[in-house]
Amino acid sequence: MSGTGIGVDIGGTTTVGVLVTPSGEVVGRARAETPARRGAAAVLDTAAGVARRLLDQAEQATVGVGSAGTIDPATGAVRYATDSLPGWAGTRIADELERRLGRPVRVDNDVNAAAIGEAWTGAAAGLTHVLLVAAGTGLGAGLIRDGRLDRGARGAAGALAHLPVPGAERLRCGCGRYGHLEAVASGTGLATAYKLATGETVTGRQVAARAADGDPAAAEVLARAGEALGRALAGLVALLDPQAVVVAGGAAAALLPAATPVYVAELLPAWADVPLLPAQLGDEAVAVGAARLGMEEPTQ
Ligand SMILES: [Zn+2]
Repeated sequence: MSGTGIGVDIGGTTTVGVLVTPSGEVVGRARAETPARRGAAAVLDTAAGVARRLLDQAEQATVGVGSAGTIDPATGAVRYATDSLPGWAGTRIADELERRLGRPVRVDNDVNAAAIGEAWTGAAAGLTHVLLVAAGTGLGAGLIRDGRLDRGARGAAGALAHLPVPGAERLRCGCGRYGHLEAVASGTGLATAYKLATGETVTGRQVAARAADGDPAAAEVLARAGEALGRALAGLVALLDPQAVVVAGGAAAALLPAATPVYVAELLPAWADVPLLPAQLGDEAVAVGAARLGMEEPTQ
């Protein structure tokens, strides 16, 4: 690893870029709206444009990318993606960006990149065993073991969304099946539960805002979601034995107050000192982790 690195987070609404020093300090920023509806080529052009603006400040910088979807780590191509980026599945992100930028590009899933970022300079800085949970519209996780990302056998480890949990039996998950954690503890899950309780259609973010304003139905929905998440995370701590669990994403602040006491109560004594922490890098976590990824020596 040498020199500065550029990280680009290709999200469904915004493409976020950072330029970081070898120690992870963010010294440059660029961002653009993601033209998701205009298709994969337009999204790639935008990502390349964000990277180029940062390359103007550091010509020799390496480039890493974090993207929504399941990414094949060997090829940097998208295996599977939701419709937040229409036509994204099958896109060869690494090849396409290498062609546009004239240098190697490392690509990984956005939640994996966030885990790398938070374990580098964020809430879990310096720790080598970290479970990062991203609770936004959906729910995902990234796992750092022995200081390295554990991607699993097919690059798909951390699909926390589909953990079966009690109380979700009648709720449909984003995958189409019933009974999974994402159907409860995510922005989508909050919105669905609130609609079932009140008949009103609002977003997960609005459910959190209403709970803060004293709406009892919203508070109940949040409490149930937080409990389900807290219990599931305590179980995962027993499986994975991390030093810390970090919760990131747009729904994290809403879920943590209810999740934390349940998590603490459910932890077995062996893991009583494993904290449940809010993420620290905000909406730059993916980009910072992607920059770190790009700085690593190529594996092939
Ligand atoms: Zn599912």
